[in-house]
Amino acid sequence: MTRIGLFGGSFDPIHNGHLAVASAAMAQADLAEILFIPTRISPLKQELPPAPDLDRWTMIVLATLELPQYRAARWEMDREGPSYTVDTLRIARRELGDTAELNWIIGADNLLTLPRWRDVAGILEQASFLVVPRADLHGDALRAVWEAMPLDYRARIRILDMEPVTVSSTQIRACLAAGKPIDTLVPRLTMAYIERYNLFRSAGLFVSKKTGPPAEGL
Ligand code: ATP
Repeated sequence: MTRIGLFGGSFDPIHNGHLAVASAAMAQADLAEILFIPTRISPLKQELPPAPDLDRWTMIVLATLELPQYRAARWEMDREGPSYTVDTLRIARRELGDTAELNWIIGADNLLTLPRWRDVAGILEQASFLVVPRADLHGDALRAVWEAMPLDYRARIRILDMEPVTVSSTQIRACLAAGKPIDTLVPRLTMAYIERYNLFRSAGLFVSKKTGPPAEGL
């Protein structure tokens, strides 16, 4: 078996927090490779549309260009409609073959939403979860969320040990909208791309992370 990490998200934009998550997952779960999978339409994010797919894709490619253990996969961007994880895992299995052990990586904030994802049982049949602490959910509080979950969930969910990293895409979009520097928050080539092509500068693109009523899950 080859242990593979699958890291889904809007990546709007990808940032150093994502890379810290990937690095912790790689080391602690002994992964051979991590695939970054930008979502096309995130079923649980009720906001203005994200930056264009092409820009989000390019920012990931640039951030991972010099890191051979990371790759980007177009599995969600290339299909119509909401990007349900259960469907993405079927594609991953087809593309990666029977010898791949699939590990879906999420931040702790996403663990809270897991019961609302489409076909959780189907997801857990295909993959395990690696959960990384986030600034607003870590330590005992995160453990308590895990403990409150059904046994069959818990058997497939592992919480990784990592100091929370506070950066978020929302914060970066806010900085850019306000003309503040982002050089400590995003990888070098990604920042160069954002600046060169003037991404996220228009006020309309800065949106709060906070959401409206939930749709059916990821
Ligand atoms: P936004 O601020 O727009 O909601 P985000 O920073 O949470 O974006 P996403 O692309 O939505 O970034 O995140 C993809 C995945 O990475 C999610 O599972 C999220 O929880 C996780 N993640 C993002 N940033 C961090 C971080 N700093 N620490 C731990 N997990 C993170």
